[in-house]
Amino acid sequence: MKLYNSLSKEVEDFKPINQESVSMYCCGPTAYHFQQIGNWRTFSLSDFLYRTLKFNDFNVDYIMNITDVGHLFEEGRDDSGEDKVEKAAEKEGKTAKEIIEFYTKDFLNGYKSLNLMEPRKFTKASEYIDPQIDLLVTLEEKGYTYQTSDGIYFDTAKFKDYGNLSGLSIESVKEGARIDPNPEKKNPTDFALWKFSPQGKQRQQEWQSPWGVGFPGWHLECSAMALNELGETIDIHVGGEDLKMIHHQNEIAQSECATGKSFVNYWVHGAFLTVDGGKMSKSEGNFYTVDDIEKKGFSAMDLRYLFMTAHYRTPLNFTWEALQNAHNSLLKIYDIVGSYEQNPEAEVSEKYLKRFKDKIGDDLNLPEALAIVWELLKSSLSEASRLNTFMKMDEVLGLDIQEHIGYEVPEEVENLAKMRMEYRKNGIWDKADVIRKQISELGYVLEDVEDNKYKIKKRL
Ligand SMILES: [Zn+2]
Repeated sequence: MKLYNSLSKEVEDFKPINQESVSMYCCGPTAYHFQQIGNWRTFSLSDFLYRTLKFNDFNVDYIMNITDVGHLFEEGRDDSGEDKVEKAAEKEGKTAKEIIEFYTKDFLNGYKSLNLMEPRKFTKASEYIDPQIDLLVTLEEKGYTYQTSDGIYFDTAKFKDYGNLSGLSIESVKEGARIDPNPEKKNPTDFALWKFSPQGKQRQQEWQSPWGVGFPGWHLECSAMALNELGETIDIHVGGEDLKMIHHQNEIAQSECATGKSFVNYWVHGAFLTVDGGKMSKSEGNFYTVDDIEKKGFSAMDLRYLFMTAHYRTPLNFTWEALQNAHNSLLKIYDIVGSYEQNPEAEVSEKYLKRFKDKIGDDLNLPEALAIVWELLKSSLSEASRLNTFMKMDEVLGLDIQEHIGYEVPEEVENLAKMRMEYRKNGIWDKADVIRKQISELGYVLEDVEDNKYKIKKRL
Protein backbone atom coordinates (compact mmCIF):
# COMPACT_ATOMS: atom_id res chain seq x y z
CA MET A 1 0.00 0.00 0.00
CA LYS A 2 1.33 3.40 -0.96
CA LEU A 3 0.57 6.68 0.73
CA TYR A 4 1.63 10.25 0.04
CA ASN A 5 3.43 11.63 3.05
CA SER A 6 3.23 15.41 3.41
CA LEU A 7 6.37 15.36 5.52
CA SER A 8 8.64 13.74 2.91
CA LYS A 9 6.50 15.11 0.06
CA GLU A 10 6.71 11.71 -1.59
CA VAL A 11 4.50 8.73 -2.20
CA GLU A 12 5.90 6.06 0.12
CA ASP A 13 5.32 2.40 0.80
CA PHE A 14 3.24 2.19 3.93
CA LYS A 15 5.10 0.36 6.67
CA PRO A 16 3.45 0.36 10.08
CA ILE A 17 5.51 0.45 13.25
CA ASN A 18 3.76 -2.68 14.40
CA GLN A 19 2.38 -5.12 11.81
CA GLU A 20 -0.40 -6.07 14.21
CA SER A 21 -1.95 -2.67 14.69
CA VAL A 22 -1.82 0.66 12.90
CA SER A 23 -2.29 3.81 14.98
CA MET A 24 -4.17 6.64 13.36
CA TYR A 25 -5.27 10.07 14.57
CA CYS A 26 -7.49 12.53 12.77
CA CYS A 27 -8.05 16.15 13.80
CA GLY A 28 -11.78 16.29 14.29
CA PRO A 29 -14.26 19.14 14.56
CA THR A 30 -14.47 22.08 16.91
CA ALA A 31 -17.92 21.93 18.46
CA TYR A 32 -19.01 25.54 17.97
CA HIS A 33 -20.97 25.55 14.73
CA PHE A 34 -22.34 23.20 12.05
CA GLN A 35 -19.69 21.33 10.09
CA GLN A 36 -19.51 22.44 6.49
CA ILE A 37 -18.99 20.10 3.56
CA GLY A 38 -15.28 20.91 3.36
CA ASN A 39 -14.84 19.51 6.89
CA TRP A 40 -16.82 16.48 5.85
CA ARG A 41 -14.47 15.94 2.95
CA THR A 42 -11.58 15.64 5.43
CA PHE A 43 -13.46 13.31 7.78
CA SER A 44 -14.50 11.18 4.80
CA LEU A 45 -10.88 10.96 3.65
CA SER A 46 -10.00 9.66 7.09
CA ASP A 47 -12.82 7.13 6.80
CA PHE A 48 -11.69 5.92 3.36
CA LEU A 49 -8.17 5.50 4.69
CA TYR A 50 -9.39 3.68 7.81
CA ARG A 51 -11.49 1.32 5.70
CA THR A 52 -8.67 0.76 3.21
CA LEU A 53 -6.30 -0.23 6.00
CA LYS A 54 -8.87 -2.65 7.37
CA PHE A 55 -9.48 -3.98 3.87
CA ASN A 56 -5.75 -4.70 3.76
CA ASP A 57 -6.12 -6.74 6.95
CA PHE A 58 -4.61 -4.25 9.35
CA ASN A 59 -6.09 -3.74 12.77
CA VAL A 60 -6.42 -0.01 13.15
CA ASP A 61 -6.48 1.90 16.40
CA TYR A 62 -8.26 5.04 15.28
CA ILE A 63 -8.81 8.17 17.33
CA MET A 64 -10.60 11.38 16.40
CA ASN A 65 -10.79 14.36 18.69
CA ILE A 66 -13.60 16.77 19.33
CA THR A 67 -12.30 20.18 20.31
CA ASP A 68 -14.49 21.74 22.95
CA VAL A 69 -12.18 24.38 24.40
CA GLY A 70 -9.14 26.47 23.52
CA HIS A 71 -9.61 26.81 19.76
CA LEU A 72 -9.26 30.52 19.13
CA PHE A 73 -10.26 32.70 16.24
CA GLU A 74 -7.14 33.94 14.46
CA GLU A 75 -5.37 30.85 15.77
CA GLY A 76 -1.67 30.87 15.02
CA ARG A 77 -1.53 34.51 14.10
CA ASP A 78 -1.49 36.28 17.39
CA ASP A 79 -3.07 33.85 19.86
CA SER A 80 -5.30 36.64 21.08
CA GLY A 81 -8.53 35.74 19.31
CA GLU A 82 -11.55 34.66 21.26
CA ASP A 83 -12.33 31.07 22.15
CA LYS A 84 -14.70 29.78 19.48
CA VAL A 85 -16.90 27.86 21.92
CA GLU A 86 -17.18 30.68 24.47
CA LYS A 87 -17.89 33.18 21.71
CA ALA A 88 -20.63 30.97 20.24
CA ALA A 89 -22.17 30.63 23.71
CA GLU A 90 -22.23 34.39 24.08
CA LYS A 91 -23.70 34.89 20.62
CA GLU A 92 -26.39 32.24 20.95
CA GLY A 93 -27.24 33.05 24.56
CA LYS A 94 -26.40 29.53 25.72
CA THR A 95 -23.85 28.03 28.06
CA ALA A 96 -20.61 26.63 26.66
CA LYS A 97 -21.82 23.19 27.73
CA GLU A 98 -25.03 23.58 25.73
CA ILE A 99 -23.11 24.74 22.68
CA ILE A 100 -20.76 21.77 22.88
CA GLU A 101 -23.56 19.27 23.36
CA PHE A 102 -25.65 20.70 20.55
CA TYR A 103 -22.90 20.84 17.93
CA THR A 104 -21.35 17.54 18.99
CA LYS A 105 -24.69 15.87 18.51
CA ASP A 106 -25.08 17.49 15.12
CA PHE A 107 -21.59 16.34 14.17
CA LEU A 108 -22.31 12.76 15.22
CA ASN A 109 -25.54 12.78 13.20
CA GLY A 110 -23.70 13.95 10.12
CA TYR A 111 -21.01 11.37 10.80
CA LYS A 112 -23.60 8.65 10.76
CA SER A 113 -25.45 9.87 7.71
CA LEU A 114 -22.20 9.93 5.72
CA ASN A 115 -21.68 6.33 6.82
CA LEU A 116 -18.33 7.10 8.46
CA MET A 117 -17.03 4.32 10.66
CA GLU A 118 -16.58 5.32 14.27
CA PRO A 119 -13.09 5.51 15.70
CA ARG A 120 -12.22 3.62 18.87
CA LYS A 121 -12.85 6.88 20.66
CA PHE A 122 -13.88 10.46 20.02
CA THR A 123 -11.61 12.22 22.48
CA LYS A 124 -12.85 15.47 23.93
CA ALA A 125 -10.15 18.01 24.70
CA SER A 126 -11.73 19.04 28.01
CA GLU A 127 -11.44 15.45 29.24
CA TYR A 128 -7.66 15.48 28.76
CA ILE A 129 -6.69 18.48 30.85
CA ASP A 130 -4.33 16.50 33.10
CA PRO A 131 -2.35 14.96 30.21
CA GLN A 132 -2.13 18.43 28.68
CA ILE A 133 -0.76 19.92 31.89
CA ASP A 134 1.69 17.00 32.20
CA LEU A 135 2.90 17.58 28.66
CA LEU A 136 3.37 21.27 29.39
CA VAL A 137 5.30 20.51 32.58
CA THR A 138 7.65 18.28 30.56
CA LEU A 139 8.17 20.99 27.96
CA GLU A 140 8.84 23.52 30.71
CA GLU A 141 11.35 21.25 32.44
CA LYS A 142 13.16 20.78 29.17
CA GLY A 143 13.34 24.53 28.65
CA TYR A 144 11.06 24.98 25.64
CA THR A 145 8.59 27.39 27.19
CA TYR A 146 8.39 30.98 28.40
CA GLN A 147 5.76 33.03 30.13
CA THR A 148 4.13 36.25 28.94
CA SER A 149 1.39 38.33 30.53
CA ASP A 150 -1.32 36.21 28.89
CA GLY A 151 0.02 32.70 28.95
CA ILE A 152 2.76 30.11 28.55
CA TYR A 153 4.30 29.99 25.09
CA PHE A 154 6.35 27.51 23.12
CA ASP A 155 9.68 28.87 21.93
CA THR A 156 9.81 27.58 18.35
CA ALA A 157 13.43 28.75 17.91
CA LYS A 158 14.44 25.98 20.32
CA PHE A 159 13.09 23.23 18.07
CA LYS A 160 15.66 22.82 15.34
CA ASP A 161 13.27 21.05 12.96
CA TYR A 162 10.62 23.77 13.10
CA GLY A 163 9.30 24.19 9.57
CA ASN A 164 9.93 20.57 8.54
CA LEU A 165 6.27 20.07 7.69
CA SER A 166 5.17 23.61 6.84
CA GLY A 167 8.27 24.36 4.78
CA LEU A 168 8.48 27.76 6.43
CA SER A 169 11.51 28.58 8.53
CA ILE A 170 11.14 30.88 11.52
CA GLU A 171 13.38 33.40 9.75
CA SER A 172 11.18 33.55 6.66
CA VAL A 173 8.07 34.01 8.78
CA LYS A 174 9.85 36.79 10.70
CA GLU A 175 10.72 38.61 7.51
CA GLY A 176 7.20 38.25 6.16
CA ALA A 177 5.51 39.32 9.36
CA ARG A 178 4.28 42.86 9.64
CA ILE A 179 4.26 44.29 13.10
CA ASP A 180 3.71 41.34 15.39
CA PRO A 181 0.36 41.90 17.11
CA ASN A 182 1.71 40.18 20.19
CA PRO A 183 4.97 41.98 21.07
CA GLU A 184 5.69 39.66 23.99
CA LYS A 185 6.24 36.71 21.68
CA LYS A 186 9.91 35.98 20.95
CA ASN A 187 9.22 34.66 17.45
CA PRO A 188 6.14 35.12 15.26
CA THR A 189 5.86 31.32 15.03
CA ASP A 190 5.67 30.87 18.83
CA PHE A 191 2.29 29.76 20.10
CA ALA A 192 0.31 29.53 23.32
CA LEU A 193 0.39 26.26 25.25
CA TRP A 194 -1.67 27.59 28.12
CA LYS A 195 -3.66 30.79 28.22
CA PHE A 196 -4.57 32.59 31.42
CA SER A 197 -8.19 33.45 32.02
CA PRO A 198 -8.61 37.19 31.40
CA GLN A 199 -8.34 39.45 34.45
CA GLY A 200 -11.66 40.17 36.05
CA LYS A 201 -13.60 37.87 33.76
CA GLN A 202 -14.65 34.37 34.53
CA ARG A 203 -14.58 32.01 31.62
CA GLN A 204 -17.15 29.21 31.47
CA GLN A 205 -14.40 26.65 30.96
CA GLU A 206 -11.21 27.12 32.93
CA TRP A 207 -8.93 25.00 35.09
CA GLN A 208 -6.29 25.31 37.78
CA SER A 209 -2.74 24.74 36.61
CA PRO A 210 0.76 25.24 38.03
CA TRP A 211 0.81 28.56 36.14
CA GLY A 212 -2.57 29.86 37.18
CA VAL A 213 -6.21 29.51 36.16
CA GLY A 214 -6.72 29.22 32.44
CA PHE A 215 -7.20 26.84 29.55
CA PRO A 216 -5.05 24.84 27.16
CA GLY A 217 -3.99 25.84 23.68
CA TRP A 218 -5.60 24.02 20.77
CA HIS A 219 -2.32 22.62 19.43
CA LEU A 220 -1.36 21.22 22.84
CA GLU A 221 -4.68 19.41 23.07
CA CYS A 222 -4.12 17.34 19.94
CA SER A 223 -0.57 16.40 20.93
CA ALA A 224 -1.67 15.35 24.40
CA MET A 225 -4.62 13.29 23.16
CA ALA A 226 -2.61 11.58 20.42
CA LEU A 227 0.32 10.76 22.74
CA ASN A 228 -2.00 9.65 25.50
CA GLU A 229 -4.18 7.38 23.39
CA LEU A 230 -1.77 6.10 20.76
CA GLY A 231 1.78 6.35 22.11
CA GLU A 232 4.86 8.46 21.42
CA THR A 233 5.14 7.66 17.72
CA ILE A 234 2.02 7.11 15.70
CA ASP A 235 1.70 5.72 12.19
CA ILE A 236 -0.75 8.07 10.52
CA HIS A 237 -2.03 11.55 11.27
CA VAL A 238 -4.84 12.87 9.09
CA GLY A 239 -6.20 16.36 8.75
CA GLY A 240 -7.30 19.06 6.35
CA GLU A 241 -4.67 20.88 4.33
CA ASP A 242 -5.56 24.06 6.20
CA LEU A 243 -4.14 22.57 9.41
CA LYS A 244 -0.77 21.63 7.97
CA MET A 245 1.18 24.87 8.18
CA ILE A 246 0.51 25.83 11.77
CA HIS A 247 -1.54 23.33 13.78
CA HIS A 248 0.29 20.22 12.66
CA GLN A 249 3.70 21.86 12.62
CA ASN A 250 3.07 22.88 16.22
CA GLU A 251 1.87 19.40 17.15
CA ILE A 252 5.19 18.04 15.85
CA ALA A 253 7.19 20.65 17.78
CA GLN A 254 5.51 19.98 21.13
CA SER A 255 5.38 16.22 20.83
CA GLU A 256 8.94 15.72 19.62
CA CYS A 257 10.45 18.15 22.11
CA ALA A 258 8.62 16.37 24.93
CA THR A 259 9.36 12.77 23.94
CA GLY A 260 12.60 13.12 21.98
CA LYS A 261 11.03 10.78 19.41
CA SER A 262 9.55 11.17 15.99
CA PHE A 263 5.84 11.97 16.43
CA VAL A 264 4.17 10.81 13.20
CA ASN A 265 5.44 8.58 10.40
CA TYR A 266 2.86 9.48 7.74
CA TRP A 267 1.13 12.83 7.51
CA VAL A 268 -1.95 12.65 5.28
CA HIS A 269 -3.62 15.91 4.27
CA GLY A 270 -6.84 16.33 2.34
CA ALA A 271 -7.08 19.11 -0.23
CA PHE A 272 -9.55 21.97 -0.06
CA LEU A 273 -13.11 21.95 -1.19
CA THR A 274 -14.23 25.02 -3.06
CA VAL A 275 -17.80 26.02 -3.85
CA ASP A 276 -18.60 27.28 -7.35
CA GLY A 277 -14.88 27.77 -7.85
CA GLY A 278 -14.40 30.00 -4.81
CA LYS A 279 -13.83 29.83 -1.12
CA MET A 280 -16.73 28.78 1.04
CA SER A 281 -17.80 31.52 3.41
CA LYS A 282 -20.77 32.53 5.48
CA SER A 283 -20.86 35.96 3.89
CA GLU A 284 -21.07 34.49 0.39
CA GLY A 285 -24.01 32.34 1.52
CA ASN A 286 -22.31 29.19 0.25
CA PHE A 287 -21.31 27.74 3.57
CA TYR A 288 -23.07 24.41 3.05
CA THR A 289 -23.79 21.79 5.68
CA VAL A 290 -25.21 18.26 5.38
CA ASP A 291 -28.53 19.75 6.41
CA ASP A 292 -28.45 22.17 3.46
CA ILE A 293 -27.73 19.24 1.14
CA GLU A 294 -30.68 17.31 2.52
CA LYS A 295 -33.00 20.30 2.28
CA LYS A 296 -32.36 20.31 -1.46
CA GLY A 297 -33.43 16.69 -1.71
CA PHE A 298 -29.98 15.11 -1.76
CA SER A 299 -28.59 12.67 0.75
CA ALA A 300 -25.34 12.64 2.65
CA MET A 301 -24.49 9.50 0.67
CA ASP A 302 -24.62 11.54 -2.54
CA LEU A 303 -21.99 13.74 -0.97
CA ARG A 304 -19.94 10.70 -0.02
CA TYR A 305 -20.07 9.55 -3.64
CA LEU A 306 -19.08 13.01 -4.84
CA PHE A 307 -16.02 12.96 -2.57
CA MET A 308 -14.89 9.74 -4.25
CA THR A 309 -14.91 11.29 -7.69
CA ALA A 310 -11.84 13.44 -6.99
CA HIS A 311 -8.50 12.30 -5.63
CA TYR A 312 -8.12 13.50 -2.06
CA ARG A 313 -5.04 15.56 -2.89
CA THR A 314 -6.86 17.44 -5.64
CA PRO A 315 -9.06 20.38 -4.75
CA LEU A 316 -12.70 19.49 -5.26
CA ASN A 317 -15.05 22.08 -6.63
CA PHE A 318 -18.53 21.64 -5.23
CA THR A 319 -21.44 22.65 -7.46
CA TRP A 320 -25.07 21.58 -7.22
CA GLU A 321 -24.68 20.15 -10.70
CA ALA A 322 -21.78 17.97 -9.57
CA LEU A 323 -23.85 16.78 -6.62
CA GLN A 324 -26.74 16.03 -8.96
CA ASN A 325 -24.39 13.91 -11.10
CA ALA A 326 -23.17 12.06 -8.02
CA HIS A 327 -26.77 11.51 -6.97
CA ASN A 328 -27.68 10.11 -10.42
CA SER A 329 -24.70 7.76 -10.42
CA LEU A 330 -25.47 6.47 -6.96
CA LEU A 331 -29.13 5.97 -7.80
CA LYS A 332 -28.11 4.02 -10.88
CA ILE A 333 -25.84 1.81 -8.79
CA TYR A 334 -28.63 1.10 -6.32
CA ASP A 335 -31.00 0.35 -9.19
CA ILE A 336 -28.56 -2.05 -10.80
CA VAL A 337 -27.70 -3.98 -7.65
CA GLY A 338 -31.35 -4.02 -6.63
CA SER A 339 -32.18 -5.92 -9.81
CA TYR A 340 -29.42 -8.50 -9.44
CA GLU A 341 -29.96 -12.17 -8.81
CA GLN A 342 -28.43 -13.10 -5.49
CA ASN A 343 -26.42 -16.06 -4.49
CA PRO A 344 -24.17 -15.79 -1.46
CA GLU A 345 -22.20 -18.73 -2.82
CA ALA A 346 -21.38 -17.08 -6.15
CA GLU A 347 -17.73 -16.48 -6.82
CA VAL A 348 -16.09 -13.18 -5.89
CA SER A 349 -14.01 -12.10 -8.87
CA GLU A 350 -10.41 -12.06 -7.70
CA LYS A 351 -9.40 -10.31 -10.89
CA TYR A 352 -11.64 -7.29 -10.32
CA LEU A 353 -10.93 -7.31 -6.63
CA LYS A 354 -7.19 -7.18 -7.22
CA ARG A 355 -7.48 -4.30 -9.65
CA PHE A 356 -9.66 -2.46 -7.16
CA LYS A 357 -7.23 -3.14 -4.35
CA ASP A 358 -4.31 -1.89 -6.44
CA LYS A 359 -6.09 1.39 -7.07
CA ILE A 360 -7.08 2.10 -3.49
CA GLY A 361 -3.64 0.93 -2.40
CA ASP A 362 -2.12 3.50 -4.72
CA ASP A 363 -2.48 6.49 -2.42
CA LEU A 364 -6.24 5.99 -2.20
CA ASN A 365 -7.04 6.45 -5.84
CA LEU A 366 -10.79 6.33 -5.38
CA PRO A 367 -11.78 7.87 -8.73
CA GLU A 368 -10.03 5.02 -10.54
CA ALA A 369 -11.33 2.46 -8.07
CA LEU A 370 -14.85 3.72 -8.84
CA ALA A 371 -14.18 3.29 -12.55
CA ILE A 372 -13.40 -0.38 -11.84
CA VAL A 373 -16.71 -0.72 -10.01
CA TRP A 374 -18.55 0.51 -13.11
CA GLU A 375 -16.55 -1.85 -15.28
CA LEU A 376 -17.49 -4.71 -12.98
CA LEU A 377 -21.17 -3.82 -13.12
CA LYS A 378 -21.03 -3.88 -16.91
CA SER A 379 -18.95 -7.07 -17.11
CA SER A 380 -20.05 -10.47 -18.37
CA LEU A 381 -19.75 -12.10 -14.94
CA SER A 382 -22.91 -13.54 -13.48
CA GLU A 383 -25.11 -11.06 -11.61
CA ALA A 384 -24.51 -12.80 -8.32
CA SER A 385 -20.75 -12.72 -8.88
CA ARG A 386 -20.84 -9.05 -9.74
CA LEU A 387 -22.89 -8.40 -6.64
CA ASN A 388 -20.67 -10.38 -4.31
CA THR A 389 -17.53 -8.74 -5.70
CA PHE A 390 -19.08 -5.29 -5.34
CA MET A 391 -20.16 -6.03 -1.78
CA LYS A 392 -16.55 -6.80 -0.94
CA MET A 393 -15.39 -3.52 -2.54
CA ASP A 394 -18.10 -1.71 -0.62
CA GLU A 395 -16.21 -2.40 2.60
CA VAL A 396 -13.99 0.46 1.41
CA LEU A 397 -16.51 2.56 -0.50
CA GLY A 398 -19.13 2.43 2.25
CA LEU A 399 -22.06 2.95 -0.14
CA ASP A 400 -24.18 0.62 1.96
CA ILE A 401 -24.93 -1.67 -0.96
CA GLN A 402 -26.26 -4.30 1.43
CA GLU A 403 -29.18 -2.00 2.17
CA HIS A 404 -30.12 -1.70 -1.48
CA ILE A 405 -30.12 -5.23 -2.73
CA GLY A 406 -33.52 -6.42 -3.68
CA TYR A 407 -35.18 -7.62 -0.51
CA GLU A 408 -36.12 -6.59 2.92
CA VAL A 409 -35.23 -8.79 5.84
CA PRO A 410 -38.42 -9.57 7.80
CA GLU A 411 -38.59 -8.30 11.34
CA GLU A 412 -38.88 -11.82 12.65
CA VAL A 413 -35.50 -12.71 11.13
CA GLU A 414 -33.92 -9.49 12.43
CA ASN A 415 -35.16 -10.26 15.93
CA LEU A 416 -33.88 -13.82 15.80
CA ALA A 417 -30.48 -12.58 14.64
CA LYS A 418 -30.33 -10.11 17.52
CA MET A 419 -31.28 -12.81 20.00
CA ARG A 420 -28.64 -15.11 18.59
CA MET A 421 -26.00 -12.42 19.01
CA GLU A 422 -26.93 -12.02 22.66
CA TYR A 423 -26.47 -15.76 23.17
CA ARG A 424 -23.14 -15.66 21.39
CA LYS A 425 -21.94 -12.73 23.48
CA ASN A 426 -22.77 -14.74 26.57
CA GLY A 427 -21.13 -17.90 25.27
CA ILE A 428 -24.38 -19.85 25.01
CA TRP A 429 -23.37 -21.49 21.77
CA ASP A 430 -25.95 -24.27 21.54
CA LYS A 431 -28.90 -21.89 21.71
CA ALA A 432 -27.19 -19.60 19.21
CA ASP A 433 -26.90 -22.53 16.81
CA VAL A 434 -30.55 -23.45 17.17
CA ILE A 435 -31.50 -19.92 16.19
CA ARG A 436 -29.19 -20.00 13.21
CA LYS A 437 -31.05 -23.06 11.97
CA GLN A 438 -34.40 -21.35 12.52
CA ILE A 439 -33.18 -18.41 10.46
CA SER A 440 -32.04 -20.75 7.74
CA GLU A 441 -35.46 -22.40 7.67
CA LEU A 442 -36.98 -18.99 7.12
CA GLY A 443 -34.79 -18.65 4.02
CA TYR A 444 -31.92 -16.48 5.28
CA VAL A 445 -28.27 -16.98 6.07
CA LEU A 446 -26.29 -15.21 8.73
CA GLU A 447 -22.76 -14.14 8.13
CA ASP A 448 -20.75 -13.14 11.16
CA VAL A 449 -18.45 -10.21 10.64
CA GLU A 450 -16.12 -8.66 13.20
CA ASP A 451 -17.05 -6.86 16.42
CA ASN A 452 -20.14 -8.92 17.18
CA LYS A 453 -21.84 -7.75 14.00
CA TYR A 454 -23.53 -9.80 11.34
CA LYS A 455 -25.02 -9.60 7.92
CA ILE A 456 -28.27 -11.23 6.93
CA LYS A 457 -28.53 -12.49 3.39
CA LYS A 458 -31.28 -14.25 1.52
CA ARG A 459 -30.67 -17.97 1.06
CA LEU A 460 -30.99 -18.89 -2.57
ZN1 LIG B 1 -5.63 18.68 15.80
